[in-house]
Amino acid sequence: MDSNAGISARRVAGMGWLWMVFFFHLVSSLEEILLDTTQETSEIGWTAHPSDGWDEVSVLDDKKRLIRTFQVCNVAEPGQNNWLRTHFIERRGAHRVHVRLRFSVRDCASMRTVASSCKETFTLYYHQSEADIASQDMPEWREGPWTKVDTIAADESFSQVDSTGKVVKMNVKVRSFGPLTKHGFYLAFQDSGACMSLVAVQVFFYKCPAVVKGFASFPETFAGGERTSLVESPGTCVPNAEETSATGSSSVRLHCNGEGEWMVAIGRCTCKAGYQPVDDERACQACAPGFFKVSVGDDPCHLCPAHSHAPQPGSRECECQNRYYRSASDNSDAPCTGIPSAPRDLSYEIVGSNVLLTWRLPKDLGGRKDVFFNVICKVSNLLARVHYTFEIQAVNLVTELSSEAPHFATINVSTSQSVPSAVPMMHQVSRTTTSITLSWPQPDQPNGLILDYQLRYFDKAEDEDNSLTLTSETNMATISSLSPGKIYAFQVRARTAVGYGPYSGKMYFQTLTGGERSEMVQDRLPLIVGSALGGLAFLVIAAIAILAIIFKSKRRETPYTDRLQQYIGARGLGVKYYIDPSTYEDPNEAIREFAKEIDVSLIKIEEVIGSGEFGEVCFGRLKHPGKREYMVAIKTLKSGYTEEQRREFLSEASIMGQFEHPNVIHLEGVVTKSRPVMIVTEFMENGSLDSFLRQKEGQFSVLQLVGMLRGIAAGMRYLSDMNYVHRDLAARNILVNSNLVCKVSDFGLSRFLEDDASNPTYTGGLGCKIPIRWTAPEAIQYRKFTSSSDVWSYGIVMWEVMSYGERPYWDMSNQDVINAIDQDYRLPPPPDCPTVLHLLMLDCWQKERVQRPKFEQIVSALDKMIRKPSALKAIGTGTSRPSQPLLSNCPPDFPSLSNAHEWLDAIKMGRYKENFDQAGLATFDVISRMTLEDIQRIGITLVGHQKKILNSIQLMRVHLNQLEPVEV
Ligand code: AMP
Repeated sequence: MDSNAGISARRVAGMGWLWMVFFFHLVSSLEEILLDTTQETSEIGWTAHPSDGWDEVSVLDDKKRLIRTFQVCNVAEPGQNNWLRTHFIERRGAHRVHVRLRFSVRDCASMRTVASSCKETFTLYYHQSEADIASQDMPEWREGPWTKVDTIAADESFSQVDSTGKVVKMNVKVRSFGPLTKHGFYLAFQDSGACMSLVAVQVFFYKCPAVVKGFASFPETFAGGERTSLVESPGTCVPNAEETSATGSSSVRLHCNGEGEWMVAIGRCTCKAGYQPVDDERACQACAPGFFKVSVGDDPCHLCPAHSHAPQPGSRECECQNRYYRSASDNSDAPCTGIPSAPRDLSYEIVGSNVLLTWRLPKDLGGRKDVFFNVICKVSNLLARVHYTFEIQAVNLVTELSSEAPHFATINVSTSQSVPSAVPMMHQVSRTTTSITLSWPQPDQPNGLILDYQLRYFDKAEDEDNSLTLTSETNMATISSLSPGKIYAFQVRARTAVGYGPYSGKMYFQTLTGGERSEMVQDRLPLIVGSALGGLAFLVIAAIAILAIIFKSKRRETPYTDRLQQYIGARGLGVKYYIDPSTYEDPNEAIREFAKEIDVSLIKIEEVIGSGEFGEVCFGRLKHPGKREYMVAIKTLKSGYTEEQRREFLSEASIMGQFEHPNVIHLEGVVTKSRPVMIVTEFMENGSLDSFLRQKEGQFSVLQLVGMLRGIAAGMRYLSDMNYVHRDLAARNILVNSNLVCKVSDFGLSRFLEDDASNPTYTGGLGCKIPIRWTAPEAIQYRKFTSSSDVWSYGIVMWEVMSYGERPYWDMSNQDVINAIDQDYRLPPPPDCPTVLHLLMLDCWQKERVQRPKFEQIVSALDKMIRKPSALKAIGTGTSRPSQPLLSNCPPDFPSLSNAHEWLDAIKMGRYKENFDQAGLATFDVISRMTLEDIQRIGITLVGHQKKILNSIQLMRVHLNQLEPVEV
């Protein structure tokens, strides 16, 4: 019935979720007249049939004006069927027309000679036609060719005509009909025996007037063909306005209802940047000079902020005045700012060999909150008796933009003379049963001419108070009169004219037992003799050689001998093994041995990127003199730490510093000589793997994911070759760089030791915390941590990677996980996970650790897949293994879910609740009918999420009996 142009009001209301919808009425509808006999004074000339029925008569109206009426009054004879037909009335675009009739009817009862068939009603008809082709006989005078509009009864009939013939009671009735489709139409009035007078006929239709509303103009629009229809009219934004909807063209619409009233506005326009609303949302006016409006919207223009101006009208932002700037991070509506004035009250204090500079903030911060200071000159490792000039520049984020040089304060500092710093290291050159020859390098800061060295030593088994000393003018000494086969502790210190420096850390060397031949380290490693200042590689190699020889003697149960054991492996000398830094009596010694000290002035900290266990993790840059600057991550130790915390913090660097592999995070060095203490590593742009994958869900190919897994396995192969057991291999402890290279990180030990209730990932008894979901059963049960338990964890990492960072075992409790594993349940393949990868995971999760693959085998299995990606094509849940997948992809339990929100939460898609709400998708019945296009249309753009939701909808259909089960 509705014409195509119209849509029903209900449907528009139902579409409300798609668009911003505003309801309003503009009552001022327009009537367009198609026919009006009111003013006719001459003959109208409509056609009557039969000729003795309707009659055109001139009468005087109540204002004594002559009017033309049609009358009929054949009440005496029954069987009346009198028709009166109008002229052809052109439709003129109307979809629905309204007929207003003024008429009077005589009361049958008031007339003396009437047939029983006397009526007080008549019938209105219409007939559509493309042209005026009616004749005396056509259309035929009957319903059929004519469409009945209504039988019209008088509300008021009358019984008298007064002396002037004036009609006493007048009826006014309006009827409407449509939709009209042809060029025009006729109206007909059928009388079946009434005594009546048709005084006036008006035919009109409604239209909605042209209007400007919500900064959009809408053209005049004709009402639709049905009373309830709404005719959509597209709007055009007024000059300097644009649509607010992000969906693109012509989404601004208004609807014209059957009465010619505007209603249901969809979308709207709003003023562009630089223009503000005026005239009740009808126009957008340019901001006056000195004012600006930064973005599109209904806001008014604002006065330019401090130190900025807008000379032109219509400004989006105000330009900075001379010598004022906005930094790259300032918003364009922020005030313009200047550079800070010089730091105030610069003073210094000398502490040991360091200078402590202090100053007050500049008086004028340039209108900004940020201020930084460049310290021009080195502030540590000063040489004695040297004059230094320090320049402290105050800078802020706009300094770079300014052509002015930063303001600064200077101070001259004269350092006093200080003692030499500690000797960093000692090496054994040779030994006999009664003597040991040692050498050592100069202190890093001799602070003058070294006059001699003092060596202090004692039998490790005896009291330290019984130590002996010996002086040497060179950096080598032979200590004689020692007992055979004994371990001695040695320390050395340098002396200048100012005095002795501090003793070095203790180092232990052992004399030969009686039966051994005297040994010279040079025989094996001539390298040592030449240089006392070798790098890390040299120190490690030398240590291996020396200790290996010593270890031929009887082993004692001391931390020292424990450490020795680390050097002696099946692979013999020359293969680097990891050394546990906690076996060092002096942990600083481990740091010195494995981590390079970085001068703090080479580091520029730029921003905080995360928080670690001991303090903030920052992004920064490191620039060694004469080398290119590069990006680094800097872990800091927060102030107020205990000595034990400092040791634990630095232990990570002592461990990391021993590794050198492209898939293991690289240590640049440490800062221990100033505060805060820092660990500096290579910077990994994409942060930790678990959150990275969650952000990029569904965006990688299987091959890319396998590439990442290969990297992690290669890093782990290297670590297990070094005899290092990670114990906390998990996606959260893998870092990803900008090339998607994954590197194993997090070598801290403290997490397992600390009792930190705030971290539920690590649970366990006193003094030992375990990440249950990632840990092999034997490690949970009896702390058997090995490279094979790392392989188990690696399998979990594979699962995390293939499921884009899903939590292993979802929200099962730790105890449930332990029980499930014990009963041979294993995680099922993540969605779209190639079968070969899930089989490899299941291998990693073999109950017997000896049956698990070695990292070496995992790397080559992954390499094979990468070389032959067709192996990755097969996807399915079936496996031939005894291990049972834990749950079939964890489908939501539909009967227990009562609404869309619970369902979205159950499938971990709770973030889309608003999208579903806005689309009015609340019941399972409606949701179960959604297609992929529907899912995309409500704004779910990630392919992985679309798949997940579509899969669950399939299951929902099964549950609602709409579909046969399908494999998802
Ligand atoms: P962690 O204390 O090692 O767990 O580090 C805390 C967080 O800092 C990590 O989750 C990372 O997001 C970030 N982070 C640590 N090291 C780096 C690095 N080398 N590059 C980039 N981000 C890092």
